[in-house]
Amino acid sequence: MTETKIPLAGVIGAPVAHSKSPQLQRHWLKTLGLKGHYVPMHVEPDDLENVLRTLPQMGFVGVNITIPHKEAVLQIADLVTDRATLIGAANTIIFRKDGKIQADNTDGYGFLENLKTGAPNWVPQSGPAAVIGAGGASRAVVASLLDAGVPEIMLTNRTRVRSERLASDFGSRVQIYDWVQAGNMLDDAVLTVNTSSLGMIGKPEMRIPLDGLRHGTVATDLVYTPLKTRFLATAEEQGCVVVDGLGMLLHQAVPGFERWFGQRPTVDSAARAAALR
Ligand code: NAP
Repeated sequence: MTETKIPLAGVIGAPVAHSKSPQLQRHWLKTLGLKGHYVPMHVEPDDLENVLRTLPQMGFVGVNITIPHKEAVLQIADLVTDRATLIGAANTIIFRKDGKIQADNTDGYGFLENLKTGAPNWVPQSGPAAVIGAGGASRAVVASLLDAGVPEIMLTNRTRVRSERLASDFGSRVQIYDWVQAGNMLDDAVLTVNTSSLGMIGKPEMRIPLDGLRHGTVATDLVYTPLKTRFLATAEEQGCVVVDGLGMLLHQAVPGFERWFGQRPTVDSAARAAALR
């Protein structure tokens, strides 16, 4: 008698206990009535390659990758999608039937889907976007905004060399603003995005002057702990349409789930509640 294998997936990080992915993925497995398991796995950097090579033999069909492995995994993967190469990081791994490890980055997709849902009237071509921060998540956001047709991105980062590297990788539509003059770029923006970790629980608050945020423009934060950061609260007071970062987390998980378990899950209030549990 042949045994039907139950597909396994999970999230690899160090630390990983804080991850909201297991509650979310298990919620989708349950509501869709699919067989499968999703487990958090604490893996140290030195063990990453061994673990990734072994998991497919144990029935794993893929994994999410989180801090600190998102860049390192590109060196291990046999195949890397163009967008993961451009961003320089991956968050989704597929263990292919031919034995190859494929790395992809779905953060930009998640970011855009979240904006489409939370700010349906925002038109990418309608004007410049201001982006605060130039870390790994910023690269995914910038790639997706340029792809969507945003005419110009005004970028600022505490460490200037990091924004310069990003601008040189992404071309002339990215303009750098000095960190001490960051407030100035908000006057022209139709969309302002915080991609830095400022405002996250346990991190310093954002101190950029926000009076330039214009009524009716869109403000979104990648930070989702707390759900309403001070940046979003201030933007709301100034009449902006605000979109929190939890939706991005939910949407970025969709392509991996669909690929691993064979059905496209829905991002709805029940999925949001599951991730917050
Ligand atoms: P990262 O690569 O470590 O980048 C961190 C960014 O925050 C850099 O721009 C860094 O500036 C800036 N920063 C940190 N401390 C600062 C301070 N004290 N003053 C000024 N700037 C500071 O991290 P990441 O992967 O890009 O993640 C950034 C944030 O996005 C995190 O809070 C993460 O949880 C969140 N995120 C959310 C989602 C989602 O689905 N919602 C997805 C990915 C990431 P320097 O270059 O000067 O250090």
